[in-house]
Amino acid sequence: MSQKILEKSSSSIAHANLNNVDDMGKHFSYDRYVQELVWFDHGKINAAYNAVTKNAYSARRNKVALYYESDEGLKEKYTFQEVEERSNQIAHYLKKMGVEKGDRVFIFLPRVPELYFSFIAALKLGAVAGTMFSAFGPQALFDRLDQSDAHVLITNKELSQRLDSVRRKLPHLQHVLLTDGNFGAHYQNESKDFTCARTNEDDDAFMLYTSGTTGKPKGVVHGHRAIVHQYLTAKWVLDLKEDDVYWCTADPGWVTGIAYEILGTWANGASTVVTAARFDPADWYRIIQEYKVNVWYSAPTAVRMLAAQSDTLHSKYNLSSLRHLASVGEPLNPEIIHWSKRAYGLPFHDNYFQTETGGIMIANYPSLPIKPGSMGKPFPGIKVHIVDPEGNALPPNSIGRLTFEPNWPSLMKKLWRRPHKYDSYFMKMCPSRKKLYVTGDLAYIDEDGYVWFVGRDDDVIKTAGERVGPFEVESALVAHPDVVEAGVIGKPDELRGQIIKAFVVLQEGVWGNEKKKEEISQFVKKNLAGHAYPREIEFVDKLPKTRSGKIMRRILKAQEMGLPIGDTSTLEEY
Ligand code: AMP
Repeated sequence: MSQKILEKSSSSIAHANLNNVDDMGKHFSYDRYVQELVWFDHGKINAAYNAVTKNAYSARRNKVALYYESDEGLKEKYTFQEVEERSNQIAHYLKKMGVEKGDRVFIFLPRVPELYFSFIAALKLGAVAGTMFSAFGPQALFDRLDQSDAHVLITNKELSQRLDSVRRKLPHLQHVLLTDGNFGAHYQNESKDFTCARTNEDDDAFMLYTSGTTGKPKGVVHGHRAIVHQYLTAKWVLDLKEDDVYWCTADPGWVTGIAYEILGTWANGASTVVTAARFDPADWYRIIQEYKVNVWYSAPTAVRMLAAQSDTLHSKYNLSSLRHLASVGEPLNPEIIHWSKRAYGLPFHDNYFQTETGGIMIANYPSLPIKPGSMGKPFPGIKVHIVDPEGNALPPNSIGRLTFEPNWPSLMKKLWRRPHKYDSYFMKMCPSRKKLYVTGDLAYIDEDGYVWFVGRDDDVIKTAGERVGPFEVESALVAHPDVVEAGVIGKPDELRGQIIKAFVVLQEGVWGNEKKKEEISQFVKKNLAGHAYPREIEFVDKLPKTRSGKIMRRILKAQEMGLPIGDTSTLEEY
């Protein structure tokens, strides 16, 4: 555990929005900071009002909220005033379609301005905005639109084709609005004034589906009050300042894109850069140079890809505008932090959160010395406990379940129509009986209070920073006519953190060759999602199962990695 610590200079400490996380943690209370947001009345707040409207009626009115580049290089920019007006027009349009408070409005778009306007519009109406990553295929779309009983889907002509095969099975889906069809052509005829719904802090604002070990993805629902934590974490962890140009490379199909590309960011008045183009190292550096990006928030896989690409490419660009770099979503290896310090003169700052936590929980702050490999320290007010399966607190440097006392405003409110599953996220601490939120991750805390990620406590896969449930992939695999059954694991990978590996039992008489592997892999890619398909397939005669018939992924993983397979007492004969 002895690590080379990266100390911070006194000037970076003095200029940071938060200059001592330990001191702040001692007396922290949200009460003091909720005043920095706009409340309509006691307990009444609307996240969209705080992200956009507040700015449109202030000196920030003509400030650029969104710099946008399409994948063909088309450049646009929208001020806070313009985002306010566009989102108001969409809110009117949706209202005319019959959308009411609490209705689910789903958005399935690549990163285009209408995605951002529509998201804000849904919140202004008091509807529940759901976003879906544009790589999703028919099965993934169906699972989400069906379970949420979505009323409206905002998409485009190309992506809407993925709905064709499942649309008739979605009786609640009343309207499919196309940004390159009638909707796009007409919403701008609506009034630019709209009265934002005076929602309660507890009202549903947005939902995101996420994967666990078993079953279909769960709809994680967040309330309007989540913006309190998103605003404050964007300020103290991402260190956003009013005049900053900020670039978050995440997609709003995932929680980072919502919390830190839209809500927390705009609530701080920063300008956001959004690019629809795919990852390309030279283009990424060009964006930083051209927009003079000050704060860059990305993911370890992307940084590893930049590091792998070339050690000199970055020196061809002027990256001197950069002030703070942060990353999230998967472990950030120490080598990459050192590389970034050499390449950019700045280290990447790792931080940790989940779809369910709605905002950053543990972080490396601009003012905190970095212990490379650690996720940093808990956000002020967040109480972390590392416990054993019975809920006993473990001493420093002992690996256990990473849990939080459920006391922060962006903790998920519920899982859409799955109350029992929601309850399963909580346990009681021993002996105090204090309620704990259980992350599903394993970690330890060192003697200085830094938290170190160890791994998942379940079979959930993180590939290139994206969360994938093995059950979803297994279900997609067995839908292939030649597949009898399948077991899926995350296999460690230097670049992507993990890749999806599938062990597949074929129908009798089917020949398992390379061509068949490719065919099956493409089948999952097309039906489930462009990012959640197995990059590796191994044909096997049989899968290890418990006596009750459950596939033991733990054993597949141990075998794959050449590790001891552990307790096999529940294993059927294999
Ligand atoms: P998601 O809900 O998709 O954001 O995924 C959350 C999961 O990503 C966590 O439960 C962790 O397993 C993983 N994760 C997020 N941030 C980090 C990090 N900084 N280091 C390691 N794992 C992380």
